[in-house]
Amino acid sequence: TVVCVTGASGYIASWLVKVLLQHGYTVKATVRDLNDPKKTEHLLALDGAKERLQLFQADLLQDGSFDAVVEGCDGVFHTASPFFIHTDNPQEDLIDPAVKGTLNVLSSCSKVPSIKRVVLTSSVAAVMYNGSPLTPEVVVDESWFSDAEFCKERKLWYPLSKTLAEEAAWKFAKEKSIDMVTINPAMVIGPLLQPTLNTSARAIFSLINASTYLNITVGCVHINDVANAHILAFETPSAGGRYCISESVVHFSELVQILHKLYPSFKLPDKCIDDTPIVKYQFSKERAKELGINYTPLEEGVRETVESLKEKKFLQ
Ligand code: NDP
Repeated sequence: TVVCVTGASGYIASWLVKVLLQHGYTVKATVRDLNDPKKTEHLLALDGAKERLQLFQADLLQDGSFDAVVEGCDGVFHTASPFFIHTDNPQEDLIDPAVKGTLNVLSSCSKVPSIKRVVLTSSVAAVMYNGSPLTPEVVVDESWFSDAEFCKERKLWYPLSKTLAEEAAWKFAKEKSIDMVTINPAMVIGPLLQPTLNTSARAIFSLINASTYLNITVGCVHINDVANAHILAFETPSAGGRYCISESVVHFSELVQILHKLYPSFKLPDKCIDDTPIVKYQFSKERAKELGINYTPLEEGVRETVESLKEKKFLQ
């Protein structure tokens, strides 16, 4: 079976490529810059890469860039999308590549009849920001959709990019009769394969040696579970729609507690950055369970993230 993975140099995609190769797939992987060893070396070193991994250059904002890559594929995993929080130019830096890039990839897919399914990496960021109150009793599920206007008002640019991209993807997939499934992960943690520090691993990294922690509550999930969810979504004929993928929902103070328990010698923050009330909520696990996901416990994910940060010398 031949599949395409877009944005293969990224945190989630690298792990997805690794697991796909382990499962015997032939992988056509796209990266933006084939000449940058930081984007390719870790992929070429994966087990099975020599035999079954081909790298292609493709850019989300270049029309037709993905045509040659998706040709001959049975499935496409579209993960490429910018993931960072701070920008002065959200339209150009986040929204255009997310939305135009997704439509660009789907447009290439629509011309290839051998493609049985497209799995799109969306996010819980495209699920939970609609202004509905979040309380400990509220269970956020796949029927929720973030509201673009709400995101704009709050300047939630990354959630806005994921919301607009997923909305546009569903519309286009319907018009072109593309079989599409979305995986909507919460904050992904676990080992890094790439040599650079990605945004979600940075969330754990930034707690270590800090004096305060952010007053935010996030869903967390292990990267291996996220990769498996993508593959199950492709392999399970009855899979469809969206799948929220989140093992647990924790306030940053709880992440600090876990780090303290695992690494008593770490300097960790002991106060919150502000004193506004803590928001708690839950994510439904039902559809993920139906898909066959058995979640890795949060503590294991935190430990493996830290061990990986040490191995990559981000931490002493
Ligand atoms: P990374 O930043 O590690 O990866 C993002 C990838 O997108 C990189 O390969 C990057 O390429 C690529 N990309 C960005 N802009 C372009 C462009 N213009 N053309 C081609 N490629 C581009 O992030 P993650 O692995 O964490 O994120 C991957 C996906 O998962 C994204 O869609 C993200 O929204 C989603 N996600 C991530 C979560 C997390 O907690 N990590 C949670 C939920 C969803 P390059 O390396 O060249 O910059």
